[in-house]
Order: sequence, then structure tokens, then C-alpha cells
Amino acid sequence: MQEIGHFIGGKKVAGTSGRFADVFNPATGEVQARVALATDAELAAAVENAKSAQPQWAAMNPQRRARVFMNFVALLNKHMDELAEMLSREHGKTIEDSKGDIIRGLEVCEFVIGIPHLQKSEFTEGAGPGIDMYSIRQPVGIGAGITPFNFPAMIPMWMFAPAIACGNAFILKPSERDPSVPIRLAELMIEAGLPEGVLNVVNGDKQAVDAILTHPDIGGVSFVGSTPIARYVYGTAASNGKRAQCFGGAKNHMIIMPDADMDQAANALMGAGYGSAGERCMAISVAVPVGEETANKLIEKLTPMVESLRIGPYTDEKADLGPLVTRDAYNRVKGLVDRGVEEGAKLVVDGRDFKLQGYENGNFIGGCLFDDVTPDMDIYKTEIFGPVLSVVRAKNYEEALSLPMKHEYGNGVAIYTRDGDAARDFASRINIGMVGVNVPIPVPLAYHSFGGWKASSFGDLNQHGTDSIKFWTRTKTITSRWPSGIKDGAEFVMPTMK
Ligand code: NAD
Repeated sequence: MQEIGHFIGGKKVAGTSGRFADVFNPATGEVQARVALATDAELAAAVENAKSAQPQWAAMNPQRRARVFMNFVALLNKHMDELAEMLSREHGKTIEDSKGDIIRGLEVCEFVIGIPHLQKSEFTEGAGPGIDMYSIRQPVGIGAGITPFNFPAMIPMWMFAPAIACGNAFILKPSERDPSVPIRLAELMIEAGLPEGVLNVVNGDKQAVDAILTHPDIGGVSFVGSTPIARYVYGTAASNGKRAQCFGGAKNHMIIMPDADMDQAANALMGAGYGSAGERCMAISVAVPVGEETANKLIEKLTPMVESLRIGPYTDEKADLGPLVTRDAYNRVKGLVDRGVEEGAKLVVDGRDFKLQGYENGNFIGGCLFDDVTPDMDIYKTEIFGPVLSVVRAKNYEEALSLPMKHEYGNGVAIYTRDGDAARDFASRINIGMVGVNVPIPVPLAYHSFGGWKASSFGDLNQHGTDSIKFWTRTKTITSRWPSGIKDGAEFVMPTMK
């Protein structure tokens, strides 16, 4: 059986803990590999490597650092098919969707090629007599990233690309479910010219995460995953004196106004609700049609579309979506659909009994569509993370707006309308981090920042965009006075610009 270890000091190393987690093939349910779970000592060894490599890396001029990312982007393109295959094999998503996962990470690597400009400092000449004042952005030192299973290429790159471009060394702790791609990315970074030890990958579970959160030499932690763990990582990192940005779960709504183009809205809901089997933090899981007529039209359009979804393994080029990542995930999603039925929601399309011939032990579940869901139901409150769309009918715009406003999560939201006034009012009043107007999955591009509000995010700086440069650097402000020959006496009062 294939054994996946760690990547420390520029090479693959085997795990020494004797503890492993199974890595499954989601389409067949078979165990296809096992991944080592690191001890505190293994994490400490990675930090030692990072610590010795970081000062030289930070001292390298920013154009040279940028060139590593130029080479890396070229290597990602060269190895796109190999990486997508590797990703789909462990995650289960379709090959095209895996390419999307890789490309959204690659785009952040392209963004950080601008690091010479992005990391430039501020300078004030003549802030006082002979006095110049400037602020520089220095790396935090060693950064760490803890990532979820659902984007095993994109999210690691969202973290390590800006951190490393800013001159940090980095420890990545990927998800135990799909650990192969992150290790391959680290190998490609070395091939691109990154010095050994600057990027290390340590596989593991809670023990490795806790070792990161308490290690005195790690200055910043970026986390993406479920909300309870995000909250825990944020609190623990902060109480250990680290800066932290932690992104959690979601329940993204899409409001469909009566004037919306219904074909466009239905297509958007299909892609955003069922793509990647709903295992996206920006998936739309709640549709809110405004008015009975809009709701009836929407259900009429969606029903045949959900019934005819093509579900298959990643080797099926025509599949719209693949299986869920693990049997546990399958049981959880199926249990929540059962719960919705018990709670009295109307299950218009029931995908629970879906079976794929030849893949009977795979984690496949058919698309499910609920109507008449109400805000008190568990299926409305909980992030399902499966191919399940809930329709909550709203009488008018204000009622529709109030639903995402009152929800615990605040990652993404969308409105479908032809009315500019309504769209503008919605974008202005909604208390959610990423808003789409006639765009179902409003994931900002690499040069803007990504992050939710409320229980979807802890910490004040987002991922990628200029926020990421701020997160992975510390500001140092220098006040200098030349010529030193100016003579004045001792000053005992606070100097001001009076
Ligand atoms: P998860 O919270 O189970 O795991 C995320 C990471 O935390 C993994 O590396 C895992 O090893 C680690 N972890 C798990 N349990 C831990 C514990 N008790 N203590 C310390 N570390 C622990 O999340 P997941 O199932 O891999 O990913 C799905 C979740 O991620 C969903 O909730 C989804 O919405 C969220 N997500 C959020 C965003 C975002 O940007 N907001 C993006 C992608 C995914």
C-alpha cells in the first residue's frame, strides 16, 4: 500500500510516528493509500528546517523571489493533467473541476509575481527638521497553513504563495483526506528554484495542528475548514501570541427576484448547488425565490434538471459531479436529508437511493431538492456540504433579505434580478463578505481579497489580494534624522508637531 509521508527540508520523508490515516478512493470506497500523522518532534524538525532557510530567503531581492513563482506557474501548467488526476483520485471531483481548483491557486501565484511592487514601503521625506520616516513590511518569519479537503491545490497555494513571496518560510498541514497534491506542489516549488526548507509539508491530525499552534517559532497561522475548528484554531493561536486568520463554514443563499431571468437563475443554481457535489464553501445551498409565482416557476425548472444530473467517477468525462469524499461524509449528508424529511420539508427530488453500477461501494449520492424549507429547520441552519439544495419561499424582498442577514454564517450570497436598485440595495445592506449580483459563486479573483463575515471567518485580514501581503508581513516604522550634526538640548516633553 502506498504510504504518504511528509516533505521536510526539500525532500519527501517517511513518517516515524507509526500513526496513519486511511486515504480512500471516493468512487469505490477502497483504501488506496495511508498518510502518516506527524508527532510534535516531526513538526519541530520541519520548523528547524524552516528557521534555518528563512533568513537567506528573506534577504533575496524580491525580483528573484518573484521569479521562483514565474517558474512555478509554468510548472503547474506543464503538470496540469498529472495534478488534476492526482487530485480527482483522492477527492472524487471531476477532472475539469480539479483543474479549476489548481488554476484558482495558480492565479494567486501569478498575483504574487508582483511582490516587488506589492511589498514596497511608504516613505515621508521631511517629517520634521532633517527627519525622514518610513514603514517597511518585513516577513513574520515562519508561517503555517492548515487546509481542508475540498480544495487540496487552491487553498494551500492561497496560503503559501503570498507567505513565501513575502520572504517567510512555511509549514503546510494539509487535510488527511487528500494529501498527495500538496506534497507534489512542494516538489514543484523546489524544481522552480525555491531553496530547500522554505516550504515544508507536514501531514497530520489534531496533534500536528496543536504542535503548530503552540510552537514558539511560528509567527502566523492561516486556517481554512469547518467553523468549530476555525474558532478553536483562532483562539489557540491568538493565546499563543500568533496572528491568525481562520475561515470557517458557510450556508450561502441565492435570492431570486420576480424579474430575474429564470433560465439563468436555474442554471446558476445547478452549477453552484450541485457542482463538486456541493463540497464547496461557496456552494449555494439555499435558494430564496421571492413571491409564490417565482417559487413555482423555479421548482418547475429545477426539478427535471436535478433529476437528470449526471453523477459518476472522475474517469467519466461527462459527469457533472462525483462522489462525496468519504463514507462518513456520505452518511452525514444522507442523515441530514432524512432529518429534513422528518422536519416536514418537501423532498421534491430524492437522491438518497442513487446507485452507480460497478461503483456500489462508492460514496455517491444523487442530487436532492427540498421545497418549503423554513428557517427553524436543522437542514436550513446546518451546513450540509453535499448536493442538496433547499428552497425557502419568501413573500417579498425584505423577507428574502432578512434570511441571510439572520443566518449564523456569512461567507457568500447572491441576488438574481434585472433591477439595479434592488441589486444595489442588497449589496449595500447585506452582512456577508462576498456578494454576487447575477453571479452565483462570487469568489473574488486573486488580486481582490477572499473572506466571509460572521461565523465564516475569524480574524481581520482576508486571503489573497493585498490583505494577504499585510497578513504575512509585519510593519516596522523607522524615524531617522540626518544630518546628525544638528545640536539641540535634552527634550523632556513628548515631541509633537505643534
Ligand atoms: P475540517 O475542519 O474537518 O478540517 C480542516 C483542517 O483542520 C484539516 O487540516 C484537519 O486535519 C484539521 N482538523 C480537523 N479536526 C481538528 C481538530 N479537532 N483540531 C485541530 N485540527 C483539526 O474541515 P474539512 O471537512 O476538511 O473541510 C470542509 C469545511 O471547510 C467546510 O465547513 C467548508 O465550508 C470549510 N471551508 C471553508 C472555506 C472558506 O474559505 N471559508 C473554504 C473551503 C472550505
